[in-house]
Amino acid sequence: MSSENDFRSYPAPGITVTWDASRCRHATECVRGLPLVFDPTRRPWITPEAAAVDDVIDVVDRCPSYALGYRTNDGRQRTAPEVVDNTAMSRFEIRLGGTLAGFAEYQRANDLVVFSHTEIREGLKGKGLATHLITESLDMVRAQDLRVLPLCPFVIAFMAAHPEFAELDYRHH
Ligand code: SF4
Repeated sequence: MSSENDFRSYPAPGITVTWDASRCRHATECVRGLPLVFDPTRRPWITPEAAAVDDVIDVVDRCPSYALGYRTNDGRQRTAPEVVDNTAMSRFEIRLGGTLAGFAEYQRANDLVVFSHTEIREGLKGKGLATHLITESLDMVRAQDLRVLPLCPFVIAFMAAHPEFAELDYRHH
C-alpha cells in the first residue's frame, strides 16, 4: 500500500515524472534505459531535464511496476492502473481511471487458481499492462496462500521468466 511519503514528483520543462517507491521492484529498466535521467546514486535520482521529453516517456512507459508515471504539458500522462479480483466473474481485472483495460480469467478449485485466459483491450496492448495485471494477481493469490496452475500461454511465459513466483506454481508441488 502506498503512502504520501512514498510518492515523489520530479518537475522539468515540459514534463513532470512521478515515482512511487512502494511500487518500485528495482527491475532497473529505467536505469538501463536512460542512465543520465535515472541514477540511483545521485540526489535527486531522477532528472527528467537530462533528456528529451519523448525519450523520458519511452523509458517511463517500460517501468513494469508502474512505480514511474508522468504528466506532460501537452496533456499526455501515465498513472498506475488498479488491479482487482472480480470474484463474481472469476477474473482479475486491470482498470485505468476506473475503466476496464483487460482481465485474467481463472477457475478456482479448493486451494488452486487455474489461469485460463488473459486479454488486454485493443489500443492498450504493448504498454506492460498484462505484466502488471499478472504480477498483482499472483501477489493476491500468494496473500491467500493458494497455488497457481497456468494454462494461459501468457501466464506460463510470465512464470517462467519470474522465478520469484515459482513457489506458487502447482506444477512444482
Ligand atoms: S523501471 Fe520502475 S520498477 Fe524498475 S527500478 Fe525503475 S522505477 Fe523501479
